[in-house]
Amino acid sequence: MTKQTSHIIESSLLDLLEEEHFLPDLQEEKRVKAFNSLKAILSTPNKIQKSFLRVALENGEVVRIPAYRTQHNDTLGPYKGGIRFHESVNEEEVINLAALMTLKNALHEVPFGGGKGGVAINPRNYTTKELYQICKKYVQYFSDILGPDKDIAAPDVGTGQREMDWMMSEYKSIHPGKPYLGSFTGKSVLNGGSLGRQEATGKGVYFSLRYLLHDYIRESHQLNAESRYFNRAQQLAAATQPLTIAIQGFGNVGSIAALEAYQCSFMNNKIVAVSDRNVTLYRADGLNIPALIHFAKGNKGDLPRNPEELAAAGVDAMVMEREAVLYLDLDVLILAALEDQIRDDNVGQVKAKLVVEGANAPITGEADAILSQMGTIVIPDILANAGGVIVSYFEWLQGRETLFYGEDEVFELLLNKMKKTMNAVFPAFFRTQKPLRQICYSHAVMKLSTNLYIQGKLY
Ligand code: GLU
Repeated sequence: MTKQTSHIIESSLLDLLEEEHFLPDLQEEKRVKAFNSLKAILSTPNKIQKSFLRVALENGEVVRIPAYRTQHNDTLGPYKGGIRFHESVNEEEVINLAALMTLKNALHEVPFGGGKGGVAINPRNYTTKELYQICKKYVQYFSDILGPDKDIAAPDVGTGQREMDWMMSEYKSIHPGKPYLGSFTGKSVLNGGSLGRQEATGKGVYFSLRYLLHDYIRESHQLNAESRYFNRAQQLAAATQPLTIAIQGFGNVGSIAALEAYQCSFMNNKIVAVSDRNVTLYRADGLNIPALIHFAKGNKGDLPRNPEELAAAGVDAMVMEREAVLYLDLDVLILAALEDQIRDDNVGQVKAKLVVEGANAPITGEADAILSQMGTIVIPDILANAGGVIVSYFEWLQGRETLFYGEDEVFELLLNKMKKTMNAVFPAFFRTQKPLRQICYSHAVMKLSTNLYIQGKLY
């Protein structure tokens, strides 16, 4: 289970009343009232819809599969967020993930609200035909609430271009003659998708790390930096030894983040470990990431698991337990698998000095508090993994304009957007002792509260 929505929202509202930028023109009593309305609005999603998709399997059996769409908040624009196919999907999880999308879009000034969907299946247990049926049914059951100006879905764990293509095609046949290109993002390029969307999350995850430790710290000597986090970041940035990095998860996010780190000429990186649902692979002198990506492509996304498979991949590495990746003694740990990977029962074993959240909510609230006591820098999900939704926004724009950008243009726009956000949050992060998550949450909520107030909804 992910961090509860109430926890996410409460931490985002922490200190807001003390912020001088929070509705500064209001008298104190009215300010407190506005704060309470804001809390009430953000603590509950606007809509939760649950259905049981009735699907005929290839063996003739008819099953009913739980499916959800949550629309958390649309202050800044239409709801936006992925659809997850995973067996642990449940109502609480989609609500929490939708709330995170509201904050993520607000933080990066993407003009969308927050939503999330899910289907409680393990897609590996279904045939292609069955998955096609599930995608069609999902759109049929939720067709009234989805759409380019209402709620724009996208890939998440267990879904990708193929599913978005199927879903958009169903949407198009249900709504003939209506604009449809913006109804789903993360589609294949031939079907109106954007170049660079597939790589965007992984690229953005690595960029958040690079920008913090390389571009920003190097320029920031004149910063009035008093935070203990600044000292730690500076030590990591100034080290003469290579920066040791491990990545949990080797899917679309983890593998691209690993490749970006491997290829980056700005930094002296060494990827010492990667993991997937079966194993951790470790090599003190650094792993051959392109060879591992090549192997995974031909093996349903799995990493080599034994000496024979490693030999076939042409990779030298030690095979360790799946969870071992979390506890290695190194500089940077990138979490790009699922939620709740670092919890209060295992946080004590985490030795990384900096953790990047490539997945959504991979650290529980309790563990997060312990990491900040330990002085560990955490680049939070809503900052680090926003590359996906940012390029989704560009895809939506391109679909509207029916004018398509080149890949370099997309990446330039992406990095500039993330840079702008980081330039806005890093000064406060280094000036105060607050964790970066707290700074990012405050920034997002400030944006939301200002807009809600202008829209007349805080009284
Ligand atoms: N599922 C991704 C996320 O959690 C992308 C969402 C989108 O592109 O709308 O940020």
